[in-house]
Amino acid sequence: MKFSLVAETLGYMENTTKRTELTKHLVDLFKITPPEIISKVVYLLQGKLRPDHEGIEVGVAEKLAVKALSKSAGIPVTKIEHEYMKAGDFGQATATVLGQKTQTTFLKEDITVERVYDTLFKIAELKGGKSQDMKMKYISSLLNDASPVEGRFIAKIITANLRLGIADFTILDALSVAFTGTKENRPKLEHAYNVCSDLGRVASAVAGEGFESLKGFQVSVFSPVRPMLAERVKTPAEAREKMGHQFAAEYKLDGERVQIHIGNDKVVLYSRSLENITNYYPDIVEKITKSVKSGKIILEAEAVAVNEETGEFLPFQELMHRRRKHNIAKAVKEYPITVNLFDIMFVDGASCLDMTYAERRKTLERAVKEDAFSRIMPMTIVTTDDEVEDFLENAINSGCEGLMLKQLDSPYRAGARASNWLKLKREYRNELGDTLDLVIVGAFYGRGRRTGRYGALLLAAYDEDQDKYPSICKVGTGFTDESLDQIYQILSDKIVVKKDPRVDTSLEADVWFDPEIVIEIVASEITLSPIHRVAMDGIRKGSGLALRFPKFTGKIRFEKTPENSTGVKEVVTMYNSQKKVVQGEKQF
Ligand code: ATP
Repeated sequence: MKFSLVAETLGYMENTTKRTELTKHLVDLFKITPPEIISKVVYLLQGKLRPDHEGIEVGVAEKLAVKALSKSAGIPVTKIEHEYMKAGDFGQATATVLGQKTQTTFLKEDITVERVYDTLFKIAELKGGKSQDMKMKYISSLLNDASPVEGRFIAKIITANLRLGIADFTILDALSVAFTGTKENRPKLEHAYNVCSDLGRVASAVAGEGFESLKGFQVSVFSPVRPMLAERVKTPAEAREKMGHQFAAEYKLDGERVQIHIGNDKVVLYSRSLENITNYYPDIVEKITKSVKSGKIILEAEAVAVNEETGEFLPFQELMHRRRKHNIAKAVKEYPITVNLFDIMFVDGASCLDMTYAERRKTLERAVKEDAFSRIMPMTIVTTDDEVEDFLENAINSGCEGLMLKQLDSPYRAGARASNWLKLKREYRNELGDTLDLVIVGAFYGRGRRTGRYGALLLAAYDEDQDKYPSICKVGTGFTDESLDQIYQILSDKIVVKKDPRVDTSLEADVWFDPEIVIEIVASEITLSPIHRVAMDGIRKGSGLALRFPKFTGKIRFEKTPENSTGVKEVVTMYNSQKKVVQGEKQF
């Protein structure tokens, strides 16, 4: 299949933000894609080579890509750098340069999807001393045969700059329409995706073996399952309304969610956003197998930093020290953790997802032998508000954030945020009630003490229906000098020349960023706003929703992708529940 077909689709998609149009372009492309290579097309559309959890990254330094382009086009590096400065985008500069190419190639090979994909894969696998030369050779050979539009997207993918951000669910919609004739079947595709977290695999199955083959998708070790998420409640009474008379209450610890896969004497750990985080936790890899009786198992746990002397749980920030590439052994020693298991997804060769919570908990208790490192999450069955209150008090006194409340007879709903799991935090009771996880999309330069750094950040929520990032507030409080520096540094390689097309705001920031970094915010209230764009026109014509008195909590949610940030629907729910309280409903 010609790569130009993919490049053309990417070109169309770059010019629209309407989800229906994006889907239509994808449907057209999928319909003409041979099933054997549809997985490759799906990965390339998202600027990837494999699902994220496999950790295969193509990212080549722009400097090297510039050199390769110079070699293949016969144009000096300085001229290419000039074009790059002018365009502010390496993809665009590549297209311009290829358009002015002076060297003509007589033996031009066609650029196929297979060739692009396989070459990028080889580049991604190259390591070590001589790898730079080889990478350059591969890139320049591809660009040598590429047309300007093909070159534009090859350059973007190679330098990890394909910023179309086509969301997973847009691809699922398009696959559903292309291969079953209707969007109605998307939930079945989504189910397959939820248990394997590999869109390419789902695409291959539905395109090659047909819709029915999706039934065969089962949970398996080393394919991470998309996690089940919780809704928030403010009071035990609200929980009772949603879950009935009797339910389970578990401690809600403030650490990092870890999905533990064990099989064939190997342990692999995945984060909340299914990134492979095995290297950060060698202690889990070493110790967990001592507590687990089955050779093949998938468990979910919260890893929490502890004070080894007192046994006290420490705040989430302490785990940040584990996020380093070097000297992990030192971090393991200085910042010890415990692993607190709260769910089981697979054991004895079978999935546990369809079991009820009560059955899964029993299965978990049978499968794990607790020790000082691997614990089972404290749980009690509650039937009255007072029992919830007492348990909450215990939880808070032990250093927890609050409670997770779970319906006893509900299955594990992978990838869903549903009312079978509720979170009840202490801070939910006052003011706004909950924290929000928001994406940094822009910044404003600081003055006075903050000269040379950012004075305020522009934040957005995620609109899952439109795949957009509408702005919700500017935040300038809650930062320490240290956190300001840290954020300034993290954001330095996320700067983009133009506002990302998915960012929706009426404000003009001094600097725009790729929507990637998620931070936690508290606020006093959600109000209607003519400036910010969350739920624009949804509650009142001409108004969106904004946060009043937003404040950074100090937490950078490095385990969250921007799509995992607080959704527009959640903000609307928070706005409505706040109204209820104002209208005189009993507040706890
Ligand atoms: P999300 O709900 O999207 O994960 P979040 O991380 O902001 O967003 P939290 O308010 O932190 O949500 O609550 C959910 C998280 O709580 C889980 O992802 C998990 O990391 C953690 N957690 C702690 N204890 C438990 C528990 N007993 N059961 C399930 N999750 C728990």
